[in-house]
Amino acid sequence: MTTVTNPATEETIRDLPEAGVEETDAAVARAREAFPAWRVVAPSDRARLLRRLAALVEEHAEELARIESENVGKPISGARAEVGMVAEVFHFYAGAVDKHHGETVPVAGGVDMTFREPLGVVGLIVPWNFPLNIASWKLGPALACGNTVVLKPAELTPLSALRLGELCLEAGIPEGVVNVLPGKGSVAGQRLVENPDVAKIGFTGSTEVGRSVMEGAAATIKRVTLELGGKSANVVFADADLERAAAAAPYAVFDNAGQDCCARSRIFVERGAYDRFLELLVEATKGVKVGDPADEATEMGPLISAEHREKVSSFVDGSVVFSGEVPASAGFWFPCTLVEASNDDRVAREEVFGPVAAVIPFEDEADALHLANETPYGLSGSIWTRDGARALRVARGIEAGVLSVNSNSSVRVATPFGGFKQSGFGRELGMHALEGYSETKNVFFSTD
Ligand code: NAD
Repeated sequence: MTTVTNPATEETIRDLPEAGVEETDAAVARAREAFPAWRVVAPSDRARLLRRLAALVEEHAEELARIESENVGKPISGARAEVGMVAEVFHFYAGAVDKHHGETVPVAGGVDMTFREPLGVVGLIVPWNFPLNIASWKLGPALACGNTVVLKPAELTPLSALRLGELCLEAGIPEGVVNVLPGKGSVAGQRLVENPDVAKIGFTGSTEVGRSVMEGAAATIKRVTLELGGKSANVVFADADLERAAAAAPYAVFDNAGQDCCARSRIFVERGAYDRFLELLVEATKGVKVGDPADEATEMGPLISAEHREKVSSFVDGSVVFSGEVPASAGFWFPCTLVEASNDDRVAREEVFGPVAAVIPFEDEADALHLANETPYGLSGSIWTRDGARALRVARGIEAGVLSVNSNSSVRVATPFGGFKQSGFGRELGMHALEGYSETKNVFFSTD
């Protein structure tokens, strides 16, 4: 049994049974049984089912947003936006299903044909920070390509995935195609990785667990997509619109209470603008509204658990330049925190996964690039400057998969998302994700 808690009140929402090894194997067997019939459903019919699922998500948007807000502690306004994206993801892959196909290649003595084949049963393992969103990023392309699925939500946040499973059935997706399996990572998750009938693991989570997933997958040469941790840079040049950059910077770290793989938690500022920018940043951070996630105006809720709060607080030491207010009531609250640091400090090296940002000066463009890349991670980042050529040079120079110029934006449905270096590999979203959920088969057809 697992107890699902509301992190804003510390109250129990529900007790849920957890899948053990036996239940995990049973879910995989069910998905395997459903695969032959699902793989031959015409692409246009799979598209219709995904479209229906998208419509049901829209119809139940408020309910899903409330489940997510209560279970993760995220502000209701943010949860609504995330559910909107979930619907958009299913619409996108409904539109993509019948455009993802092979080609014919004329060769001597015949013709080669390529086919995009589904992999079979895919295991989708997702974290607790964006439970429904990240599930949809994997589920959409996996179903579009004709795979059947076992989706394992994180222990702390299984509720929205369970509701999504019900909506899949209501949309008419046949039983056994989508199986939602709440359970511990070390039990159900690990068994999914080991089970020889699982063809691929789509994993989002920490780099540490990602490493063990990759190791475990080696035994059966499973395909893996790994979306892992980050320590992203927000690079502010002196010629930037400093007001705009400073107004945006808090939301690049404190959104989702900093529990965001894309958090730009290292804020690099060119020396000449450092003092002015820090002043503006502190002012902007004071404006972040922290409080009850159910309140429409709230911008930041609590952390996910008491244990996680312990971990986050271990990163904060004497160089704090700002620490905000938090509610005095129950809940795993942690204040927005700005720390002046060097790139060698632990707060700048390790993923905090909480509302703590390190502010670090740099000397020039070369120094900025060096500092931004001096990390084992490579997920995301932002560049603020009015010099277009420099923006492009720096964007090309930063070793990360998802960058934005004069913006915090990380994720869009139609464009590829994923990491460099120890932030993982494989791409989610856009047409790119379809590559990760299909095999290319080549058939030579003799005309002799
Ligand atoms: P986590 O690695 O602890 O858990 C992620 C998932 O893996 C959970 O479902 C968990 O139950 C499961 N798991 C745990 N041990 C397992 C094992 N041995 N075998 C198989 N599965 C196992 O991560 P978390 O704490 O839930 O999430 C936070 C982490 O996720 C952060 O590092 C964050 O950066 C990362 N993240 C990355 C992205 C991205 O797209 N790159 C997005 C969101 C979160």
